[in-house]
This record gives sequence, C-alpha cells and structure tokens, in this order.
Amino acid sequence: MPSEFNATSGAERPSPDLQTLAVHAGQHHDPETGAVAPPIHLATTFARRDDGSDRGYVYARENAPTRERLEEALAVMEGAAGAAAFASGLAATNAAFDLLPPGSRLLLPDDRYVGVGNQARTILPHRGIEVVELDMTDRAALDAALAEVSEAPPDADGNADARASAASRPRSMVWIETPSNPQLRITDVADVAARARAAGAIVACDATWCTPMITRPLNLGCDLVVHSTTKYVGGHSDVLGGVVAWREAGELADGIRERQILGGAVPSGFDAWLLLRGMRTMPLRLAAQCDGAMAIAEAMQAHPHVSRVLYPGLPTHPGHALAARQMDRFGAMLSIRVRGGEDAAARVARGTRWLAPATSLGGVESLIEHRAVVEGPTSRTPRDLLRISVGIESPRDLIDDLGSAIDRAHAG
Ligand SMILES: *Cc1c(COP(=O)(O)O)cnc(C)c1O
Repeated sequence: MPSEFNATSGAERPSPDLQTLAVHAGQHHDPETGAVAPPIHLATTFARRDDGSDRGYVYARENAPTRERLEEALAVMEGAAGAAAFASGLAATNAAFDLLPPGSRLLLPDDRYVGVGNQARTILPHRGIEVVELDMTDRAALDAALAEVSEAPPDADGNADARASAASRPRSMVWIETPSNPQLRITDVADVAARARAAGAIVACDATWCTPMITRPLNLGCDLVVHSTTKYVGGHSDVLGGVVAWREAGELADGIRERQILGGAVPSGFDAWLLLRGMRTMPLRLAAQCDGAMAIAEAMQAHPHVSRVLYPGLPTHPGHALAARQMDRFGAMLSIRVRGGEDAAARVARGTRWLAPATSLGGVESLIEHRAVVEGPTSRTPRDLLRISVGIESPRDLIDDLGSAIDRAHAG
C-alpha cells in the first residue's frame, strides 16, 4: 500500500524509497552500545577532550546529538543539503521570514495556515517588511506582484538579467502553501518557483500538509521547505516541532542556521527523539490517512446536506489535474461545506463521536473543526466550512460518524 508513494509526481525521488529512508535516516546505531533505537541525549553541555578540543558538541542550543539525528533524517527525506530543527512550526517560519531584509516584501498566499498569516502581519512590519497577500493560484496576480519586487519583468526560464537587477534591491520572498489551508487550493510549485526565482525572490514552501512522502518542493525549484513537524512527522499529537530545510549550502542555509542558534527556539532532546520516532511510521500512517480521506471525500460528496467537498483527490476539484502531477497522494486533509450555514456547521463539529472537535492536524486521531470561528474575526473562510484531519481509524466508522452528525444537525 505505501509503495504508492514514490510514484510518478514531477518531483524526483531519492533512491532508496522514502519508506525505507523514513525508517533508517538518522538512525545509525549508537557507537558505544550498539543500541538500535537512538539514545535521548538531554545534556545541555559537553566536556572537552584533554587537548581542549570538542567532540562536535559544545552547548545544546548550538548542536545536540538527538537533534542532529533529526535534522539529518529530515534533510534526507526532503532531498535537502541540510535542515535546522526548531521548537515549533512557527519558530521555523519566523526564522525563514527573518531572512528578509528591511525594505523587502513577503508575497503570501491569502489562503494559508492562519498562524503563519498572523505571524507575518504582526511581526514583519516591525522589521520594515511589507506583506503582500494574494491568491497564489492566480498567475496574473503573482506576475503583477513579482513585477514590483523585480526591476525587469520576471521570466519563467530564470532570466539572468532579471536576477542581476534584483540583486541590487532587497531580496523578497514568495511563500507557497499547497494544498492551502483550509480551502485546499492547489498551487503549481514548479511554476511559481520558476517565476519567483526569475524575479530574484527567495522561494519557500510550507509543505506541512504534504510531508516529503507526497511532494518534495526542493526538487520542484524551491530554495527552502518548511514544516510544522507537530503534524504528520510527530503524528501522535504529543510534540511540537518545526524544520527549515534548504536545497543547497550557502547564504540562505547559513542564515537559517544562525537564526536557529541565535534565536534559540530549538527542540529539546526528548522532542527530537519523539519526532524521529514518529517519522519511522509516517509512511504507513499517511498512506492509511490518505486512503481514509479519499473514502470520506467520496462519501461526503454523495451526502444530501453537504454542498461542497474540497479535496484535490476528487476529479471535480479545480486543482485535481495539477495535484495529480505534483502530489504522489492527495493528502489526508479535506474541508466540507454543509447546507444550513454556520449553525449547522457548528452543530456538526460538536456532534461527532470519533472525530474530536479540536484544532491541529496530522495525528492518528481524526479531528474536525469549524475553522471560521477558530480563525477569528479577520477570517475569510466560509462560515459553513468544516475542516477535517483524517486519522487512522476505520474510514467506514468515520463516514458513519460524520454522516450521522450531519443528519442530526439538520434534524434538530
Ligand atoms: C500547524 C501549522 C503551522 C504552525 O506550526 P506549529 O507547530 O503549530 O507552530 C504552520 N503551517 C502549517 C501548514 C501548519 O499546519
């Protein structure tokens, strides 16, 4: 079943298969004991040798053995030159945004994880960075925004003149999140990355929802890939984490590492260990979760009180063809819009047995959320929308549960 991963999507894949790497990456046996599972190193400081040299570890904020294993594993999975682990997904996005110099711009999708939007809008203006929000799936809107950050018009083939002229002005950043949250819009990663790079911008992709099992943005032309490892990598709703991985060594990589060490938002040894442990089973979990999401999406499409199902695996989804090209599976997140508006949606979210009414995603347990309420007064999310994170329960039980909660919401 999980061999369906590593299929045909545009991105190259490493050899051996990711399913194998997920088990073995960062997993070398402990040199002292031969322990097959990684030790959890909690030490904050490391003794020097007699000659005063260190063993590669000095102080745990700078580098620590269990975190190093996690970073190695995440870099291998992403096909990255390296990775820096953070204490949460937002610590990771903050480090990426902080690469932007004053006077630059962040081009941000208008449908995206709400916390990333709040972080950008709250923090970046203080650093002299303008946040420009647009529909990243609208090519004309993106080209117009890119024309303003680059002197020469962007050229999808990576026009060197455009890059040279852009080098004299502060470098901007294009942020991709696909599928978007919570409306599941599909952005063409390779196309946006090519246009953005031609305009001299840094391209970063928040690939939390896909994980490397589904899409590998660095192979599609992005400079940086960011994850909230709190979600599918951890997979059990019991650890916060984030990562930034980079395509190549150089200025961006050094900048991220600097912000990790000097910003100090690093994961503990125990957190790093939980994330490594989670990653071993990520391919199996995610395969089951994607199967469940597809089954639920199909069942909900047939439900009389559901007006729309937003899931890129459905042929009726506007991004389906692109998703089929760029994703190995269609993911385990979906949104549904129910008839009866906000009140009916709120009743459904309170009325399920197996789907917990909670925020977050990616864990083994299914969650349902009335997203507009959670996102607050500035939310542009439709009021009748419910976002569902599909866990590893039996899809049949989840379909029965959701279907009857919707029926009850309409009966009473
Ligand atoms: C959860 C999430 C984040 C934020 O990560 P935290 O670990 O909660 O800080 C960022 N992006 C996406 C897409 C997410 O789902």
